[in-house]
Amino acid sequence: VSSSPDVIVIGAGAAGLFTAIAAGKRGRRVVVVDHAPEAGAKILISGGGRCNFTNVDAQPARYLSANPHFCISALRRYTPRDFLDLVERHGIAWHEKKLGQLFCDSSARDILGMLLAEAADAGVELRLDCAVRDVQGTEGGFVLDTVRGRMAAPKLVVATGGLSIPKMGATDFAYRLAKQFGLNVVTPRPGLVPFTFTPQDLARTQGLSGVALDAVVKAGKSAFREALLITHRGLSGPSILQASSYWQPGHPVTVDLTPDLDLAEHLKAAKRARPNAELKTILGDVLPRRFAERLCGEGGAGGGEVESRPLRDLSDKALAAVGEQLRRWTVVPAGTEGYRTAEVTVGGVDTNDLSSKTLEAKAVPGLHFVGEAVDVTGWLGGYNFQWAWSSGWVAGQAL
Ligand code: FAD
Repeated sequence: VSSSPDVIVIGAGAAGLFTAIAAGKRGRRVVVVDHAPEAGAKILISGGGRCNFTNVDAQPARYLSANPHFCISALRRYTPRDFLDLVERHGIAWHEKKLGQLFCDSSARDILGMLLAEAADAGVELRLDCAVRDVQGTEGGFVLDTVRGRMAAPKLVVATGGLSIPKMGATDFAYRLAKQFGLNVVTPRPGLVPFTFTPQDLARTQGLSGVALDAVVKAGKSAFREALLITHRGLSGPSILQASSYWQPGHPVTVDLTPDLDLAEHLKAAKRARPNAELKTILGDVLPRRFAERLCGEGGAGGGEVESRPLRDLSDKALAAVGEQLRRWTVVPAGTEGYRTAEVTVGGVDTNDLSSKTLEAKAVPGLHFVGEAVDVTGWLGGYNFQWAWSSGWVAGQAL
């Protein structure tokens, strides 16, 4: 096969493998190269080892991009149902965890095994441990200089992902190649990533690491209700990871700590029912006890000091202020944990320079970008893999 492939795919991750399978099934001779010793390493660590391989609700509004319409076509043409059919054809047991998130019952290895079996079936050749040093465009296509020799093909697909988890071999290859061929790159930044605190905010949450709350977290105009986790560095948990993708450095994040409760009214009612109860006791009924105690101790975690006194000694106005404070707990994160722990990279190859039908560069025939390398980033919950499958599949139909 390999002496004269029709297509070279760089990157044997989710998107690269899926592109290769789709093109291979259409009779194209496909070679996938990757500098890593193993294909699909990120698939194996995904979803806590069980791979949240899609989300039944993978609609365009669940994706961030400078052009929010770009992903519509691919998501419509290759849907979560299509991927699920494939999973079921391979007899892989799966379950919906929550919020439409589909996971393997047993292991992410099932998904990788399925992809490798499909790739073998489609005649795809994998060349691992094969770093690409240089790519040149020629009359007839593309010539690659790799550590394992020169390769050439009329079509090239770049599926090298984003910058997240450099320890696993993430590189800026796609962005460099895009620029080399004159494409614009929307500045990448870490997404789905925990926040870090300033030393002052850390002092206020000291000793609370491990406390989890059901909260609504708002960054910019986007709000997410899921678990929030206090860490020894700042904040994490699904609601925080979701908000982080929308967060801009220097901007505040607002947290509603009692989303189902009008806390001000609750405290005022408690004052009438249990006037001798201490504020921290009442707050401890609706918030994790450690959090409530800390809040009412010195340097409260709620963003200001709340003195714990019997409720009868507190005015309704003071109770309303406490309620308001906890429903609009505001912090300005010092930053994020960065690419070291980010699940994805927001930004990437500018969708204005790509066809939404084929993922081909408008100005460079034969050159395609798929998956996370492109400026389309999903929410937490299986959306990023669905983008990898959908973008890979549509590219594969055009190769
Ligand atoms: P990748 O999967 O990153 O693949 C890129 C490939 O390119 C890699 O094999 C890499 O070795 C190769 N490569 C990179 N640079 C070069 C180079 N210079 N030369 C040659 N090869 C190169 N998403 C979900 O939807 N559900 C989840 O459960 C989920 N869990 C996650 C858990 C973690 C810890 C992380 C980090 C991410 C998770 N994601 C999840 C996100 C998801 O893994 C990615 O969005 C997805 O893998 C992107 O696919 P991709 O093929 O575009 O890129």
